[in-house]
Amino acid sequence: MSIRPLVILPDSKLRMTSEPIKEVTGEICRLADDMLETMYHAPGIGLAAIQIGMPVRMVTMDVSKSEDERQPMVLINPEIVWASEEKRVYEEGCLSIPEYYEEVERPDRVRFRYMNLQGETIEQDADGLLATCVQHEIDHLNGVLFIDYLSRLKRDRLRLSFPHHVDHFDPAEDDACSGKRLEAKHGSGPSLDGTVVLLDAIQVVGPE
Ligand SMILES: [Zn+2]
Repeated sequence: MSIRPLVILPDSKLRMTSEPIKEVTGEICRLADDMLETMYHAPGIGLAAIQIGMPVRMVTMDVSKSEDERQPMVLINPEIVWASEEKRVYEEGCLSIPEYYEEVERPDRVRFRYMNLQGETIEQDADGLLATCVQHEIDHLNGVLFIDYLSRLKRDRLRLSFPHHVDHFDPAEDDACSGKRLEAKHGSGPSLDGTVVLLDAIQVVGPE
């Protein structure tokens, strides 16, 4: 196993559509090992293969709260097969977009299907953090980043940090009136045990 370098915005690989995996080979198993090690090292709770430069449809995740009780998941060719009408807002981050966190609204609950490393097809229901994480990671396989869901105002601010590489598609709405600010959210909103957890990254919020 080895820790691989992360692909960071504005690398255009992040906009690629990843290819389905036809069979679980030794190479795929080694890639899964490297992804898990890279994810834990970051640290993060989810990683898509393209984030280490491999354009194949594989995701690793672990949303367990404790390092002692790791629950690694390896998802091959994952897809969302059902999503709830109800939405939930989580503050998301991404290992490929360092130091940037913003609220994203997604379906609250989903059912997803994937193949595991044994070649079995699994269908699983998810809510909460797992639901958000799996949606965020599957987006990566389609070249979609969480910043694509943000308002124009917020993306304009992000563009100051990552010039020329923020635009993917243009949301029609601009919520300039919402007045939301990242700084205002510390200590509130979804959190686990004082940690603001976000995808794929985990940020520990210290005293301000
Ligand atoms: Zn991400």
